[in-house]
Amino acid sequence: FDESQLVDYSESAELPGEDSATHEKPTHSDIQAVRKSLPAFKQRQSFLDVVKSNQVVIVVGETGSGKTTQLPQYLYEEGYHKRAGKQKILKIGCTQPRRVAATSVARRVAEEVGCSLGDEVGYSIRFEDQSSQVTAIKYLTDGMLLREFMTDPMLTSYSCLMIDEAHERTVSTEIVLSLLKDVIKERQDLRLIIASATINASKFSDYFNLAPIFKIPGRRFPVTIAYTKNPEANYIQAAITTVLQIHMKQELPGDILVFLTGQDEIETMEETLNEASRKLGNLIKPLIVAPIYANLPPKLQARIFEPTPYNSRKVVLATNIAETSITIDGIKFVIDTGYVKENVFNPATGMESLVVVPCSRASADQRAGRAGRVGPGKCYRLFTKWSFYNELPENGTPEILRANLSSVILLLLSIGVSDLINFDFMDPPSHQTLIRCLELLYSLGALNVKGQITETGQKMAKFPMDPMFCKAILTSVEYNVKDDILSIISMLSESSSLFYRPKDKKELADKMRERFFHEAGDHLTLLNIWHQWRDNGYSNLWCEDHFLQYRTLKKIREVRNQLEKLCQKVIPVFPVVGECTPDICSVQKALMSGFFPNIAKLSKLGNSYTLLKKNQPVYLHPSSRLFSVKPPPKYVLYHELVLTSKEYMRNCMVINETWIDELAGHYYQKQIQN
Ligand code: ADP
Ligand code: MG
Repeated sequence: FDESQLVDYSESAELPGEDSATHEKPTHSDIQAVRKSLPAFKQRQSFLDVVKSNQVVIVVGETGSGKTTQLPQYLYEEGYHKRAGKQKILKIGCTQPRRVAATSVARRVAEEVGCSLGDEVGYSIRFEDQSSQVTAIKYLTDGMLLREFMTDPMLTSYSCLMIDEAHERTVSTEIVLSLLKDVIKERQDLRLIIASATINASKFSDYFNLAPIFKIPGRRFPVTIAYTKNPEANYIQAAITTVLQIHMKQELPGDILVFLTGQDEIETMEETLNEASRKLGNLIKPLIVAPIYANLPPKLQARIFEPTPYNSRKVVLATNIAETSITIDGIKFVIDTGYVKENVFNPATGMESLVVVPCSRASADQRAGRAGRVGPGKCYRLFTKWSFYNELPENGTPEILRANLSSVILLLLSIGVSDLINFDFMDPPSHQTLIRCLELLYSLGALNVKGQITETGQKMAKFPMDPMFCKAILTSVEYNVKDDILSIISMLSESSSLFYRPKDKKELADKMRERFFHEAGDHLTLLNIWHQWRDNGYSNLWCEDHFLQYRTLKKIREVRNQLEKLCQKVIPVFPVVGECTPDICSVQKALMSGFFPNIAKLSKLGNSYTLLKKNQPVYLHPSSRLFSVKPPPKYVLYHELVLTSKEYMRNCMVINETWIDELAGHYYQKQIQN
């Protein structure tokens, strides 16, 4: 640890505390006492009163005040789940934009209620349902609730719905709110609660006919903000140095929360910090590094909530999930890189990519606020004050204005919402975006020329995935390669890392990985992995020998089982196309029938690719099997674009030029003529 390389900060203004006088530290570890100590508890009765006399209530409160864990329990204790009589249970639903939040909160509330998860308290996220007949409090992702409209348009199994984290403005939340606006007219008995952190409340109230805003006074101590004096070129390195700076100079207790953009960064930082603390050994007090991100298995997630042992310090490395959806007690220092990873859809090209962008000032203040829950705190911003005021946008862009909407549009069409132009969006997406998405759906065969949903489209809508995936699945049945396509798609849809490379065995790990390589690229390489794992009895040991993450493969297997079941329901019998014998080409073609918009052609110089549809340069991602293939294939189909220094194609497959005309002629007419 080199003192001369310290990150240089200038102290600045304070983020004022809120109502800090009312703060009382919970002294009992007893769970019910903790419940009673939360700010929401003081408002319990007035909350129940306002819900009783208003169909829609907007609830606003500081993060950690008990909105998510307590309000559904109050409704439950009040008997809202028994409103249909003693026999039938009506659920109290609470939506979350993030899967981790839904599962982690459900687990916590089950503990508070004193039941097993899946009994009175449960959750439901994509491909995983932990709820049952007796479930009265159900946490679910907003996307799952949206899907429930397909089978139960009036949401008759619910007595109350809390749409939580509404300030996040995810596409699913906004569509759900819009649909609920109609449902509540028909169902006077349904109670709707819209909960958000401190921003945007009046906008929701306006949208719901001036619904009352119910405030839960927060408790937050002042937080001192420090900015770096100069811009930091490498924010991860700066974050690591700052953690060590704090750890050596600041008194204990006082845990640290670091905001990063994703799993890769978190893993890198975790490894570096662990190594540094091993090297420093007895020179420093113990440093406990605990990561939290969407794909982390629940057991490891729980570590962030474990009390920090005496005389040591916990460092939580988090994505923006810790901004508002998860509250970790004991945090005194926040380190904010100032970035967030977002999916951005470009309506001009019709392409979507994952991009790291500066977070908003509102987010940065939320993040800083996490330092002031136990006492006065401090936030280290890894950017300059100038940058805060000049480079960070005031508020984030709602997802609906930047995301690819084809999946949601298909879902809306399938439940009979056909007039999208006049759909009651809170912030309507641009016509260009809507048209792009309709075009894509049309070219996938989900819509007819009149823009009406087709039978194929209806089937596609049944799968909780991007329409491109769904199309590939449907085609695979015709081509008699369903099993392989389901395997590949399950592998692709799991975003946790599959491979690992221990520092001391990198070469061996790479060698093992090469054994799976398929000349046609990453999709078939993934298929090889799947086949070999299956043939080795889905063994854990086999994974270890091949440097593959067992828990990732296990999740993939679960997803695959779910997809298999869905297939049986949606496409029971399907004529297999004539003489088609299952072979690798059929697998490739089935994939291409869905992903044909993602084709790139090798440039004349042979050093890059251009998207076939638009003349935009893209590059093979270094992780791709095709990256090192010489000469590079003329045409590739990619699974996704990742924008870092360049626009990279991740997961790529070689395709045959003749297939373009055969399978995507309708889409590429102009390009083929040229
Ligand atoms: P809000 O939704 O208002 O941000 P929550 O209901 O999520 O607040 O959290 C209220 C409190 O419950 C937190 O301050 C924390 O003390 C406690 N809590 C929440 N989840 C957990 C968990 N998984 N483990 C331990 N404590 C938790
Ligand atoms: Mg919450």
